[in-house]
Amino acid sequence: MAPKHHPTPLSGGDRKALKKELGKARAMTTILATQSVEARAKGDALIRQADRLLCHSWNKRMWADGEPIDPSPTVDQAINGGYPWLQIECSRCKTARDVDLIALTHPPTTFVHDLASRLRCSKCAKAGRRPPATLLQLAQRASRGAPET
Ligand SMILES: [Zn+2]
Repeated sequence: MAPKHHPTPLSGGDRKALKKELGKARAMTTILATQSVEARAKGDALIRQADRLLCHSWNKRMWADGEPIDPSPTVDQAINGGYPWLQIECSRCKTARDVDLIALTHPPTTFVHDLASRLRCSKCAKAGRRPPATLLQLAQRASRGAPET
């Protein structure tokens, strides 16, 4: 694309003023773009902090009372907040397991508490039972051996 053409003013003073304004505008392009990148990074960091706090809050409720599980962070908020693991146990046989939230196929609007009815115990499934999972807490890393998904 051809560069934008600014008609050359007749007077020398105006030509000088135009040149100055063009220089300023070009310099501002870079400055403003840099500021935008910085503001976005700050915003991302704040959102990450908010997500982390939400996970921490939910964990405290789960530890203290174990309920209500709703409201809970979304799966994406948990991952963004640095809590990509969900520790659960089977409500029937008490088998504990770590769920890798990153590996989980989910729409971005799925809440952690939605998983209670979806995550099934494979031991109980073999016995023909489908008990819901008890949600224990969100975790920053896997606590147990090989995780199931
Ligand atoms: Zn079970």
